[in-house]
Amino acid sequence: MSNARVPYEFKVAQIIDHTPEIRELYLQLVNKPEFTFRAGQFVMLHVPVKDAPKPALRAYSIASTDEQKDGFKLIFKFVETGIASRFVWDLKGEEILNMTGPFGKVFFQEPPTEQILFLNTGSGVSQHFSFLESKMKTHSQIKYKLYFGVRKEADIYYESEMKRLQKHLPNFKYHYVLSRASDAWAGKRGYVQHCLKDTDYKNTPTTFYLCGNGAMIKDVKHQLIAVDGIDKSRIWAEAFD
Ligand SMILES: Cc1cc2nc3c(=O)[nH]c(=O)nc-3n(C[C@H](O)[C@H](O)[C@H](O)COP(=O)(O)OP(=O)(O)OC[C@H]3O[C@@H](n4cnc5c(N)ncnc54)[C@H](O)[C@@H]3O)c2cc1C
Repeated sequence: MSNARVPYEFKVAQIIDHTPEIRELYLQLVNKPEFTFRAGQFVMLHVPVKDAPKPALRAYSIASTDEQKDGFKLIFKFVETGIASRFVWDLKGEEILNMTGPFGKVFFQEPPTEQILFLNTGSGVSQHFSFLESKMKTHSQIKYKLYFGVRKEADIYYESEMKRLQKHLPNFKYHYVLSRASDAWAGKRGYVQHCLKDTDYKNTPTTFYLCGNGAMIKDVKHQLIAVDGIDKSRIWAEAFD
């Protein structure tokens, strides 16, 4: 049977609201012995729609290690008037959600290059976090740099998870990049694509992983491929919109 047809049922085991617009769900598999996937992949959430014969399907990148077979985490960004957003923000815990998958072909490239750059926006950190968490034992010495785009200070989340990764990955650096920071913000400003110039990617063998906003991905690809002449096999992207 193809992945698209296998129904998996997951219980909402934990809900964490990192900000009013970012909700994380820990999902525990209940109807099968295991769910296997590779870091980088996504699942389709089946969203019940009142009076509709079929659920609405929405894709969500898995945000946890692929070593775990009995559940995973998903990170949701709230979309105003969104069907799935409304459904997810109505959850209280213990509900059973239907999912199909895994899907997707953005994988961690082996053997890895000396340096890896992650550029993400909104909830796009999900895919990158899964890569880092899945590879931290076997690829701990790589120079990882992660640029995490959000609008303002109040939108920052996952800092404790970033710090946890740093304990395992001595060469892991992360930066929040704020497009609408207050005057007090001492960190990076603007869009994540502007941070490329802060890295030495032109002189260091580098793989690029981009995830989230489609306009960001387009901009970064244009810079890397059209302007810098980097081979597109070094660039792996997942657009959420
Ligand atoms: C491969 C893949 C992986 C994804 N992974 C994630 C993930 O890990 N976390 C996550 O939060 N989302 C992820 N998405 C986006 C997700 O699938 C939904 O599109 C998103 O949650 C909105 O669904 P909704 O039903 O709430 O909104 P909808 O009812 O589909 O849309 C409502 C309105 O919002 C607009 N809209 C739709 N999506 C977006 C968006 N992303 N940003 C801004 N406006 C939008 C629509 O044009 C529409 O006007 C992923 C998408 C893809 C293709």
